[in-house]
Amino acid sequence: MSMKDELKLAVKSEINRVLPRLIEISDWIGKHPELGSEEHESSKLLADELERHDFTVERGLLGMETAFSARFRGRASGPQIAFLAEYDALPGVGHGCGHNIIGTAAVGAGIAVSKLMEDLPGEIIVLGTPAEEGRGPYGGAKRKMVEAGVFNDIDVAMMIHPTSGRNSIGATCLAVTGIVIEFRGKPAHAASSPQDGVNALNAAVLTYMAVHANRQQLRRDANPVIHGIITEGGVASNIIPERAVLQFGVRSSDDSYIPELVRIVENSARGAAIATGCEVNIDVRPGLKSKLRNEALEQHFLKVFKELDVDVEDLATTLSRPPPASTDFGDVTHVIPGITAMIAIAPEHVAGHSRELAAATFTEDGHRGLEIGTKVLALGAAHIFEDPGLLAEIKDAQRKS
Ligand SMILES: [Zn+2]
Ligand SMILES: [Zn+2]
Repeated sequence: MSMKDELKLAVKSEINRVLPRLIEISDWIGKHPELGSEEHESSKLLADELERHDFTVERGLLGMETAFSARFRGRASGPQIAFLAEYDALPGVGHGCGHNIIGTAAVGAGIAVSKLMEDLPGEIIVLGTPAEEGRGPYGGAKRKMVEAGVFNDIDVAMMIHPTSGRNSIGATCLAVTGIVIEFRGKPAHAASSPQDGVNALNAAVLTYMAVHANRQQLRRDANPVIHGIITEGGVASNIIPERAVLQFGVRSSDDSYIPELVRIVENSARGAAIATGCEVNIDVRPGLKSKLRNEALEQHFLKVFKELDVDVEDLATTLSRPPPASTDFGDVTHVIPGITAMIAIAPEHVAGHSRELAAATFTEDGHRGLEIGTKVLALGAAHIFEDPGLLAEIKDAQRKS
């Protein structure tokens, strides 16, 4: 039997051994959804499990209470490979993004590979990354980790994400920046003394329409998206609105196009402020970068799917679709090679961020997805530990991306 086959069998048998416990963990997190920055129980459950399997665990990473890192060293120094765990839920739809499976697969893969590290060089790291959906003070946690240098010594970052339809090697993602606009006017009686008022709602509506006036002229090759809402527009219809607030998000597959999209929204707001006589305050929030591809890592993961006899969509089909959304994992891929395997747990018609997808994480297909995701991560990492040439190829591909 070749070294590769032996590794595959060892990984499979380690995962089969822990699978019942993984299902228990994923279902528990699924049934106790915690919103971003509040994932106290979920992160504790995952970190405790790693500690029980002799990982060195650091909790409260970078002052984020629900972040953690867990490390396990192999027989000698070598590649450092990180599995990224997410475990935040969504308001109203619980684990409608399936992050209970993401966190559990990362932990399961870490535990499985750790059992083989006696014979392998390198270090396995499981990173607990909170608030992927952007909620609360720990939103954008992976970006903060990049900025703080958490990834400086890590060679490759891997994660999985549940989806509907077919398994695929994660497509690219859009860069995103949030903008909050506040208009200040002057209240007055809407009927008896409107001449004394300055209407902040009118400024908000003008901003919204001015942004629309730019849509036709956007660069379609850059996959631009501008979405906005008015979150405040007055308190009573008989008072000229004193204050109005809008929230916008601008996205693009081209990081360098983001400042142009931000400028469109800012100029629309400034124009509306002049037109209405309002004061305006524009707050451009720290954004997230696009997700970069690493072709060597993609090819490696495709082979891992084949090795496991698991169906996976061909790359050309995946890449023919526009990038779907945004993630703080994007920032990670700008500093080290990273990959997301999308694991199908529900039929194609099931939408992301839905109660149906949350429910699917508890089904037989959901548990099978957890098993496949864990095996893809574990085997994907094990081959890199075992084959130094593979890591060199991946690093080379990163330089070219
Ligand atoms: Zn999501
Ligand atoms: Zn997600």
